[in-house]
Amino acid sequence: MSENKKILDEEKINLADATRVKYFDIVIDHGQGAIITDADGTDYIDLLASASATNIGHSHPKVVAAISNQAKKLIQYTPAYFANPVTASLAKRLVDITPGNFKKQVVFGNSGSDANDAIIKFARGYTGRSYVVSFTGAYHGSTYGAISISGVSLNMTRKIGPLLPNTIKVPFPDQTQREAGESDDAFSERLFKQFKLPFETYLPADEVALVIIEPIQGDGGIIKAPQKYMSLIYEFTRKHGIVFAVDEVNQGLGRTGKLWSIDHFGIAPDMMSIGKSLASGLPLSAVVGRTEIMSSLSAPANVYTTAGNPVTAAAAMATLDVIAEENLVARSKKLGELARDFFEQAARSYWFIGDVRIYGLNGGIDIIDEHGKPDNQATTKLIYRIFELGAIMISLRGNTLRFQPPLVITEEQLTQSFKILTQAFTELAAGNL
Ligand code: PLP
Repeated sequence: MSENKKILDEEKINLADATRVKYFDIVIDHGQGAIITDADGTDYIDLLASASATNIGHSHPKVVAAISNQAKKLIQYTPAYFANPVTASLAKRLVDITPGNFKKQVVFGNSGSDANDAIIKFARGYTGRSYVVSFTGAYHGSTYGAISISGVSLNMTRKIGPLLPNTIKVPFPDQTQREAGESDDAFSERLFKQFKLPFETYLPADEVALVIIEPIQGDGGIIKAPQKYMSLIYEFTRKHGIVFAVDEVNQGLGRTGKLWSIDHFGIAPDMMSIGKSLASGLPLSAVVGRTEIMSSLSAPANVYTTAGNPVTAAAAMATLDVIAEENLVARSKKLGELARDFFEQAARSYWFIGDVRIYGLNGGIDIIDEHGKPDNQATTKLIYRIFELGAIMISLRGNTLRFQPPLVITEEQLTQSFKILTQAFTELAAGNL
């Protein structure tokens, strides 16, 4: 047993308790592209990309060089006090590559969670209203603001209340809940009625500061809102002077086959949070928003000493270069189509594969029992077997396989991962797991 593994065992770090799935007793030593290698030298195909935080692959040489060069010049000076060229260039670039032909500003943070907290603060500051509307199944992070507007699991808020006041959750338009024969538009109208219910009963719309949504929910199960629904809630926010924000922390930066998941809907949000893969997994997040909203608060309301730190900003500039130079958005779409073919075929071959949702190199694959109900146990068995066969995958909401490889995964690695998955599916079908 390696020294690192001993430490893990001695510390009794038990991820299973935290996650309800048996994760793998390995220590990751290094990674390159879509491959991670454990402390004992075993390689795994990474189908998780560190929870969508390494879209351009592990330790991309251009990012490593950018970090190293910037570290030699200046590691840290609080961007809130003094500008530095690389952080300023990044802010300008984010303004340019986010939707919306209006004046925008950027604030940086250290995590997706604090970016979403910033959105709440700015929306409240700008509107002078307090209520925030978010969605069931959403995951926006675990700072007090972000966790208060998340709705993915009961466990996350147990024992830590009281949460942020005046936060309301409405049902996410989860297409897997569509009634038989119900069209997209009819489903959108039905869910929009549910969205409006609080406003028609106890919550005056003119007291609402913010509606925040993941256009494609990540931790909620990789679920895309219907087009019409998104237009309806966007129009509602226009009518009532409510800030409309999207959380792109998980699904942004090429993950869904478009640069931003909101690009699937042709809507320019008032505010957007970005994180995870922005600096290839270094702690950096950003909020890009309309200037009039972003200028509603004065400095100490949302300042973190290291936010927008020059090394993380250099890593982000290099990451954005790689996304453009290696055509990773198009690659995500193209390889995502191979993944869709594979998983849809698997759903036809194996009765325990239920709904399959693939948007780019980004998928949620539901595992069900003979009654069509979520089967968490079978999902756990599958992901453990997939690990034994050499690929890393975890579950979402207990019974959904989470498929989010780095966008640089080669076709050969993708094919190899499909072989591994097929073997695991076949063994489960034969009752051998
Ligand atoms: N928003 C979304 C959609 C996420 O998936 C996550 C993390 O999983 C966050 C926000 C929180 O980001 P962080 O973990 O960097 O605070």
